This record gives sequence, structure tokens and C-alpha cells, in this order.
Amino acid sequence: MSRILVVEDEPAIALALEDDLTLEGHQVEVVADGETAVRAARGQTFDLILLDVMLPKKDGFEVCRELRRAGVRTPILMLTAKTQEAEKVMGLDLGADDYLTKPYGRHELRARVRALLRRATPETAEVCRFGDVEVDFGRAEVRRAGETLDLTPLEFKLMAAFVRRRGRVLSRQQLLDAAWGSDLAITERVVDNQVVNLRRKIEPDPANPRYIASVRGMGYRFDG
Ligand code: CA
Repeated sequence: MSRILVVEDEPAIALALEDDLTLEGHQVEVVADGETAVRAARGQTFDLILLDVMLPKKDGFEVCRELRRAGVRTPILMLTAKTQEAEKVMGLDLGADDYLTKPYGRHELRARVRALLRRATPETAEVCRFGDVEVDFGRAEVRRAGETLDLTPLEFKLMAAFVRRRGRVLSRQQLLDAAWGSDLAITERVVDNQVVNLRRKIEPDPANPRYIASVRGMGYRFDG
């Protein structure tokens, strides 16, 4: 059972979230303004925070930034009303982990919550699995149906970056930093090309990626 803090000032939405997450087996606490949210998140331990953007007293952007500054590392899923807000979530250095644009479907919400909770559990496993693919960190190799894939070191780093941040939207810049380091000569276009190569090796149908999803205007998200 996970403890989830829901920060939402619209009672109907808050209630729906609470019902849905409780049904999923989580323990839910709801607060309705930004100041209370900061107090709750700093004073107690949660596994995940669902954070609305438009809130009384302090908006979701500010809450997120403040919590990260205070060293609170709980995964944060921002609930945004508009695409522009979503862009802001990923564009500003807020420290949010993911976002959902309202109105969102129940299934989508559950999937995101699950992904973030899974990611929050310490990544101690030396081998991560998704579908018939195994990412072996100890041996620095990736296997598919038991066969070792011929991945370049760069592709392996990219794969590792995806797996370590599964369920989270990663911008091209974040992927650049993770796989290439601080090589400034690399353009973001190169990231796209490498993602295409990686998809060819790990996706059952590379033309319709199941694991490495493109997130329009943002980057990529690994849903393994
Ligand atoms: Ca609101």
C-alpha cells in the first residue's frame, strides 16, 4: 500500500481521485491549497504527490519548486488544465516527474501512478525486465528472448537512462546529458536518431513503439 497526497482544490475532482486511488489500494490524503500541501509534504512521508497547478494561496509550480528546494524527493505528478501548463511543467526547472493534462482518463491516471510508484522503489535490481527484454546493468548488456543484442555503448547508456526513469517524460536535453555527458557538439537531432536505432533493437514493432513513446513537443517516455 502506498501513501498518496492529493493536492486539488476542486472538491469533485479531489473526491474522484480519492475514490479511484483508494480502490486501487492506496492510502490517500487530500489537501486543497498550496500552503497546506507544502506543510503536509514536508511533515509526513508520502510515496507520491498528485499536484494540481491552479491552487489557492500557492500554485502547483511554486509548491513543487519549494518542496524540491527543501529536499523533499517524493515523486510529483502534476495535474495541468492546459497543454501550455504541461509545457511549463517540463520546461521550468520545477523538479516534477511527470504531468497529466485534464481531462484525463482513469486508466491513464492509474498507469502513470503505477509507473511513478514503481520507479520510486530503489533500483537495486541488477537486471530490469520488460516484455522479453532484459537490461543487465552488471554486464552492461541487453538481451532479448535470451539473445544478447548488439548495442553500441551509447545505445546502452540511452537504454539505461530510460529504464532508470521509467514512466517519466525525458526531454532530449536530459537524454543528451545522461548518455553523452557534456559533449556540446551533439545536437538533439542525434538523440532522435539514436532512439530510432534503439527502438529497432528492442521494440516488437519499431514503427509502433510500445516501450519508448514519443511525447509531442517534450521528448520521450519509457513505459516498460
Ligand atoms: Ca485547481
